[in-house]
Amino acid sequence: MHREDNGKSSGSPSGNPYRTHTAGELRAKNVGERVRLAGWVNRRRDHGGLIFIDLRDRWGITQVTFHPEAAEVFAAAEELRPEWSISIEGEVVERPEGNENPELPTGEIEVSATALEVLNASETPPFEIDRERPVDELLRLKYRYLDLRRDRMQENIVFRHRIVKHMRDYLTARGFLEIETPLLTASTPEGARDYLVPARLYPGEFYALPQSPQQFKQLLMVAGFERYFQIARALRDEDQRGDRQPEHTQLDLEMSYTTQGEILDLVEGLYTEIVEGFTGKRLLRKPFPRLTYAEAMDRYGTDKPDVRFGLEIGDVSEIARGSEFKVFRGAVESGGSVRGIAVGGLGDLSRREIGELESIAATGGARGLAYLKVGPDGLSGPIAKFFSAEEGEALKEALGAKESDYMFFVADRDAVVFESLNRLRLHMRDRLGLADPNVLALCWVTDFPLFEWNEDEGRIEPMHHMFTMPREEDLPLLDTDPLKVIGQLYDLVANGTELASGSIRIHRPELQQKVFSTVNILPEEAERRFGAMLEAFRYGAPPHGGIAPGVDRLIMLLRDEPNIREVMAFPKTQAARDEMMDAPSPVAPEQLEELHIAIRPRTQRGPEDPPRENPVT
Ligand code: ASP
Repeated sequence: MHREDNGKSSGSPSGNPYRTHTAGELRAKNVGERVRLAGWVNRRRDHGGLIFIDLRDRWGITQVTFHPEAAEVFAAAEELRPEWSISIEGEVVERPEGNENPELPTGEIEVSATALEVLNASETPPFEIDRERPVDELLRLKYRYLDLRRDRMQENIVFRHRIVKHMRDYLTARGFLEIETPLLTASTPEGARDYLVPARLYPGEFYALPQSPQQFKQLLMVAGFERYFQIARALRDEDQRGDRQPEHTQLDLEMSYTTQGEILDLVEGLYTEIVEGFTGKRLLRKPFPRLTYAEAMDRYGTDKPDVRFGLEIGDVSEIARGSEFKVFRGAVESGGSVRGIAVGGLGDLSRREIGELESIAATGGARGLAYLKVGPDGLSGPIAKFFSAEEGEALKEALGAKESDYMFFVADRDAVVFESLNRLRLHMRDRLGLADPNVLALCWVTDFPLFEWNEDEGRIEPMHHMFTMPREEDLPLLDTDPLKVIGQLYDLVANGTELASGSIRIHRPELQQKVFSTVNILPEEAERRFGAMLEAFRYGAPPHGGIAPGVDRLIMLLRDEPNIREVMAFPKTQAARDEMMDAPSPVAPEQLEELHIAIRPRTQRGPEDPPRENPVT
């Protein structure tokens, strides 16, 4: 175990009764010194008449030996069990020849104990702390303080601290100020539900916890700070699908009198330093590739492309339009498209394997997956008969297919085609091992549409948030065809994961008002919800823009962890519960009384049914 480069505690004031050194610090040069160490019993071994303790603290492990000659201390050592908190005193000695442990930075020495103080005994922990074995995650989260003692978790949290510190240093060196913004405030929408806090002094009124500091950081630009950042908590009440947490951390930043290019360069510099300075990973390309949204969709079917490997999507709509194959022709004629990818190295797929690929495409909405195989004498497969030799050649060329490749096609609405091929492409990445886990492909995706159409709710809504500046040349489209407006929006993507989103902001009240009305927020409502910002913009608000890289995701990716809970000290479960603190939980009736809240008893009836008794007052 070697958790940090710097394992020195010796800054500790003299007279510390627990330790003179850390358990990660002693080396051969300390042989002969009398020392005190404090920490946990990592493991106890009784061997050849001696007792060996691996003493563990935050900085490492040191082997401590107890000899039977020191009868009293030896007897006390016999009682020790894992996770007892102890302090020992003794002499640093060289380990006997052949007993050195090259795996351990302290492996040349051991401490021969002459005194032992038990600071606190421990119950048997619910899982082993001294070794990596799969443990039920609920149990880990319930006993998080023990889970965090484990090596891997200690390393993750220490690593996180180092990265966050580097962020602070990097930005401070460039004139940024770290400024805190309130947690109890009014709503800032980022596409999720608000967490609300009832206001005791204002019966029936609520604070909202911020989904991000978005409005405050813009107001800080109006306030003249020019360069702001904050390691900020974003609180979002989202349905707990996938790798989400009710609260996550962002490196929130904002600049005045800036451009998109300047913000991208700033963040690119920071991420390059982080990857190269703190990890063994390699950046795929510097400078990071920059793709427009349209290009990302066309080539990869997603705005979060994993660009570590090829298998790029080809558009064969024009060939399909003229073909005999009705399914293809129909998709194009009804305004959709036909696109595909060519994949090599699959051998000959069985009917069952093709069926599996079809079901992967179906998770993206595709109603079918057409395929052709490229053979020495032309194309084969169930739909080969619909294509002439020239069409076959054209298909191959459009997808860049080589002999013995499979070509897979989806014909549908663009959104379905993209999503289905994206999923198929990622499946092939994993199946064929196409992406190097030690490579980080960071890239920028820019020029997103400002709005998108929400199919379920039948309305237009902002793609990112409603404070984003449209491209100057698209301003007239706000009145005529808002879905065509491109925003000055950018995302940072790594290996298919979105790491950051940002934008140049609107800074003029009329334009902000217009964007509100485009998403059907009437002036009175805009005034009620965003009055402070609209008013602030009337006082010479400077042009400004920013971004908010997610901290948890980045650490997860750099540490090769499967989810963000592994890099947060106290995450919630996937069901949004804090198992350790048992939250959320009911509160005392007096507390509710003070808040003027009455709880309606749960019934079997659905939420849409009218309240029957004890309505919220
Ligand atoms: N506030 C935005 C978010 O949380 C980021 C930004 O636009 O700076 O996604």
